[in-house]
Amino acid sequence: MATAIIARRRMKYVTGTHSHVGWVQLLDGTVLTQEKVLDYMRKGSEFRTRAPNGQEARVAPYRCRTCLETFLRTDSVPPKADNLDALPLF
Ligand SMILES: [Zn+2]
Repeated sequence: MATAIIARRRMKYVTGTHSHVGWVQLLDGTVLTQEKVLDYMRKGSEFRTRAPNGQEARVAPYRCRTCLETFLRTDSVPPKADNLDALPLF
């Protein structure tokens, strides 16, 4: 896949204190784990979020300073609808 559109997300609780996006659902219904998305990214695929209002944003890996694992994040500021953390849950 060259570019994949993420429509929804499912959260994963890492510790008792915080959570990250653990799974994403693409427009065609495909569900991918965060590890699988990172794997596709390493192989050159691009992932974008698409909010219900049509806004899109690029998804990038980031390393959490709390749990030191690599997760997914959009660069948008939190209030924006296309932010990964603002997508509908599934
Ligand atoms: Zn973390």
